[in-house]
Amino acid sequence: MNTIGHLINGKTVANDPRQQDVINPSTNEVIGRVSLASQATVEEAIAAAEAAYPAWRDLPPIKRARIMYRFKDLLEQNADKICEMITREHGKVLNDAMGELQRGIENVEYACGVPELLKGEHSKNVGPAIDSWSEFQPLGVVAGITPFNFPAMVPLWMWPMAVACGNAFILKPSERDPSSALYIAELGIEAGIPAGILNVVNGDKEAVDTLLTDKRVQAVSFVGSTPIAEYVYTTGNANGKRVQAFGGAKNHAIIMPDADLDNAVSALMGAAYGSCGERCMAISVAVAVGDDTAEALIEKLKERIAALKIGDGMDNSNDMGPVVTRQQLEKIEGYIAKGIEEGAELVVDGRGLKVPGFEDGNYLGACLFDKVKEGMVIHAEEIFGPVLCVMRVDSMQEAMEIIDAHEYGNGTCLFTRDGEAARYFSDNIKVGMVGINVPLPVPVAFHSFGGWKRSLFGDLHAYGPDAVRFYTKRKTVTQRWPASGVREGAQFNFPSNG
Ligand code: NAD
Repeated sequence: MNTIGHLINGKTVANDPRQQDVINPSTNEVIGRVSLASQATVEEAIAAAEAAYPAWRDLPPIKRARIMYRFKDLLEQNADKICEMITREHGKVLNDAMGELQRGIENVEYACGVPELLKGEHSKNVGPAIDSWSEFQPLGVVAGITPFNFPAMVPLWMWPMAVACGNAFILKPSERDPSSALYIAELGIEAGIPAGILNVVNGDKEAVDTLLTDKRVQAVSFVGSTPIAEYVYTTGNANGKRVQAFGGAKNHAIIMPDADLDNAVSALMGAAYGSCGERCMAISVAVAVGDDTAEALIEKLKERIAALKIGDGMDNSNDMGPVVTRQQLEKIEGYIAKGIEEGAELVVDGRGLKVPGFEDGNYLGACLFDKVKEGMVIHAEEIFGPVLCVMRVDSMQEAMEIIDAHEYGNGTCLFTRDGEAARYFSDNIKVGMVGINVPLPVPVAFHSFGGWKRSLFGDLHAYGPDAVRFYTKRKTVTQRWPASGVREGAQFNFPSNG
């Protein structure tokens, strides 16, 4: 049995008494055992990070950047192996895993520019013979806690930039699919990151709580569900840490009567059902403006859903793999039953799907609800599965009010051919990431990612320019050198009293 341990001070260790099964969601077979770090194990990682930090902080940024270039090459060389690890433990289709990894690599590319990003700000003559500048110093030991749904990409949002900025990092990946994050960190060490600067501790609440309370940890970046994000944010803050905690989502797409419906339906299929709906930017609600739009939308979605290919993620001809765990599958089925009970119309029912050869897998076909209303649980809560809810409204304003009233504000999009409507929507909607005819407006690596409302606790967004600010602290130096006489003393003019 494959035992998945921790990476501490450059070495793999796995001597914690507590372990947990890692399961292939396509078959429900146990494929590994992950060590769950005790408080003492996490403290060992923190001590290693603290010891390695001073020399790394003082290394010129260009040398740290060169390691990031080597790391990027290693990620590309080992991409197939990484994607297989993701698919085996998460269930998403290999091509989708490759997309995730590529998005992660783009964050490493951005971190390669760290000498430029850390240049700071300089003003000459802020007063008579006085210069002033702001520089950005690393924080010290920092930590990241990541979710199951992007086991490779979300860690890559965090640690390459943190480490490139001169910090020492401790990553706590999801215990459900820990292998790819651990292997990627090993590649980081192979690229030249010193032992102790990058550590991985696998585990659960005990590991997270240790990172949140240990005074040596300066900052914590968290991505996961909203209740845990809120807990991490308040606990980390109460212990004097800088914290950013990204939470759950309920992302709405508005379909206007003038939209190119075929284009919108193609976009919705990928955004609602890709990765089995287990994306924080998945579109889980389509708000159709006008009954005619809704009827046409439902008909086209039904046709496309009937053609979906669902099966093992190792087969790239499939569109959708299994749900991550049996427990998650049951939770989603509970939401579907609740939706029916509350009066929504289940027009496509994906329950009870059996995939030949994978009968024990956590399979659920695409589900489509029509006539979903505000106040229903399936609209209020994040389902995190392949369930798309259609709501019907009479105007764009009504659709925007529904979105603005929702507690989550991660992503949203508008399908229209009208530029003025698009501009009004992006100016006024109370959501952090907006797409116009783009269903998954996940910012590229040189912008930053983050939602509003209860989708993000904290001020700065993830990756991009905000990550440079999150992983550094500003120091502003104001400098004046009064005349000391040294310069005059060094003059070679012929002395005179003239
Ligand atoms: P989760 O909250 O269950 O777990 C996230 C992390 O928290 C894991 O590392 C886990 O070990 C840890 N954790 C779990 N329970 C804990 C507890 N009681 N105390 C301390 N730590 C705990 O989330 P998940 O199911 O792995 O991921 C899915 C969720 O993440 C969804 O809600 C999704 O929307 C969200 N997500 C958000 C973003 C974003 O950027 N906003 C991105 C990806 C995923």
